[in-house]
Amino acid sequence: MVFYAHPRSDDPSRRASPARKRETEARPTMWTRLLPALRIVPRHVKWRVARIVATLIVLASAALAALWHGLPPSLASLRLPLAICGLLWAAYALWCLWPRLRLGIAPELLADLPCPTGQRVRLSFDDGPTPALTDRVLDLLFEHGVQAAFFVLTHKARRCPDLVRRIVAEGHILGLHGEDHRTALFRSQRELRASLARARDELSALSGQPISLYRPSHGWKNRALLSALRRCGLRLVFWDHGVWDTDAPPVDVLLKRLQLATPAPGEAGPAPVILLHDGRDDRTTLPSHSPALLAALSAWLPSLNAQPPRKPPQPQTSDEVRVMAKEGFNQKIINP
Ligand SMILES: [Zn+2]
Repeated sequence: MVFYAHPRSDDPSRRASPARKRETEARPTMWTRLLPALRIVPRHVKWRVARIVATLIVLASAALAALWHGLPPSLASLRLPLAICGLLWAAYALWCLWPRLRLGIAPELLADLPCPTGQRVRLSFDDGPTPALTDRVLDLLFEHGVQAAFFVLTHKARRCPDLVRRIVAEGHILGLHGEDHRTALFRSQRELRASLARARDELSALSGQPISLYRPSHGWKNRALLSALRRCGLRLVFWDHGVWDTDAPPVDVLLKRLQLATPAPGEAGPAPVILLHDGRDDRTTLPSHSPALLAALSAWLPSLNAQPPRKPPQPQTSDEVRVMAKEGFNQKIINP
């Protein structure tokens, strides 16, 4: 299975040729992707973000006022350095919490999901696997000839190893989401490294293949995580569009968000990576958004591929899954 590593900017093969220039022009940037993404963000999320930003502005203003008027005159020379430190800390916090900010991440630590031929989006599922949901999602993907990536939590994966093996056997990409759903914030580099190494090895043993891709919980990152990932040989995978499926919106609302995230046929640029969930954080019960997710996928997946619908497989054992995958689905996947 082939993944794209982000090329280094000093790679001679990247230097301008007419074809490379056209490709660069067509490739959407963070900003050209931001506007369509904003149209998908639900109103309550926009309000939540607006409240957080307003609170931060008030707190920053209060801190600056205290700095300028509260410090004794003998410490006046510290005002500017303290203000700059505060600003840098705020910028770092924003970088940690906003998945779209990838400045400063070494290219070899980032990976792009491959885009299967003819697919207009790259699907990804987090927080699973969940029995009675992940298998239904796999049925739908198989039926419509769509390939996806699954970033799993190992404490859930060990409860249903057959689902993990089925993900791999049907040609989907398997990545790590962590031992559990805790974020990297306020954890030491040593603890993160040990946790990631344990999770990587366990998922590798469950699936029978090496694991090299990692998606952080909520997309949050920090310097300690980057360092731990480098030591564990893992690369970060983010997404372009979230659709807030775990809020359990009505089917028509979720479907509308998925359609907004889908480029028109023939649209330039790489297929966007869409974030969905076949589980919900560390909970092991069937999540409340399952019915809406399955209904929306049933309505939306036929529009992604020109493949005729296929009958969902009904395997009984892991061996049967592997045989089916070899004979059918695996033949058409990933042609990067
Ligand atoms: Zn997650």
